[in-house]
Amino acid sequence: MTAPRVEIDLAKIRHNASVLVERLALRGISVTAVTKATLGSPDIANELVRAGIGALGDSRIENIELLRHAGVASTMTLIRSPMLSQVARVVEHADVSLNTEPAVIRALSSVAQVMGRTHGIVLMVELGDLREGIMPADLDEVVVEVLALPGLVLRGIGTNLACQNGVVPDATNMSRLSTLVGSIEATFSITLDLVSGGNSATLDWALGGNDTGRVNDLRLGEAILLGREPLHRTPIDGLHLDAFTLVAEVIESKAKPSLPWGPRAQNAMGQTSTALDRGDLTRAIVAIGHQDVDPSGLEPPADVEILGASSDHLVVSAAAPLPIGSELSFRLGYGALVRVMTSPFVAKVMNHPVEARHLAVVPRGR
Ligand SMILES: *Cc1c(COP(=O)(O)O)cnc(C)c1O
Repeated sequence: MTAPRVEIDLAKIRHNASVLVERLALRGISVTAVTKATLGSPDIANELVRAGIGALGDSRIENIELLRHAGVASTMTLIRSPMLSQVARVVEHADVSLNTEPAVIRALSSVAQVMGRTHGIVLMVELGDLREGIMPADLDEVVVEVLALPGLVLRGIGTNLACQNGVVPDATNMSRLSTLVGSIEATFSITLDLVSGGNSATLDWALGGNDTGRVNDLRLGEAILLGREPLHRTPIDGLHLDAFTLVAEVIESKAKPSLPWGPRAQNAMGQTSTALDRGDLTRAIVAIGHQDVDPSGLEPPADVEILGASSDHLVVSAAAPLPIGSELSFRLGYGALVRVMTSPFVAKVMNHPVEARHLAVVPRGR
């Protein structure tokens, strides 16, 4: 079969999604499934919809457009603040977008008016992780503006923690979000129907017996796709960790010393080698590299060790010689998953659940 490839087990993704949907439903929280790591795969999106996901979210309008054109039936949310240069595409293809900038919100309003559409706005609030978000003190001012603009409906507010500085969602910052909801509703005599509490890093808080306040939606990517919570990368009870497997092919297999010889400077990736003398090693080269994957996010089979990688070569040592043409399978971390899904050199092989088993190989240069 073609290599390298990422084998995608759709039944496992569906299982992960439906378990999280059920657990969060008990806390009154719905799930927006984040598809950005899948490069807008309609097969995966359809599986998420079947699992009972309420909405799909993506940070790239290109992925949302792809899902729309494939006929995926779901509400679509752009989870990154729209670029001013893309507002028309956003209003045309996304139902809702997460926003922080009045200039963008005004542009969304004018386009929505011209198109005769209503676009949903969720205002993101800064609660300490220092990525996107309106400072709480400035929130009312932006709410006033959204409420006054035609073509827009204020759906609610949200926040994003952990991604930039690892700030942990806890009782303090999360109750601040609920307090802000209450105060906006009281000040403006409105009801906010969407309170978007955060990403997969918010799961521990949401399922940990805390008062979840007004939070009624989470945006989940990694937890669904890889079965881990991202604060400590702990496996989530009952979820599959291996919905995605990277398979790559051995192109060189030789016994070589562990220590390089000759004068040494920087390698291709700008690093200096730290190789130690461990005698001769059974080494192999696997035909994949930094261009296709983040090698630090690869988990090799038990008897294989990753020694290093350049753009196109992944060097490993193995307990026994690996035959030329044989294949090695790796589990993926989130960064590695994003990279393999984005590489045109890595084929995407969908393993459909038994009720619809066929093999779809996405051709190169999608
Ligand atoms: C990527 C992203 C998510 C999903 O994050 P996971 O950790 O994969 O769950 C949620 N919200 C925003 C704004 C994002 O950019």
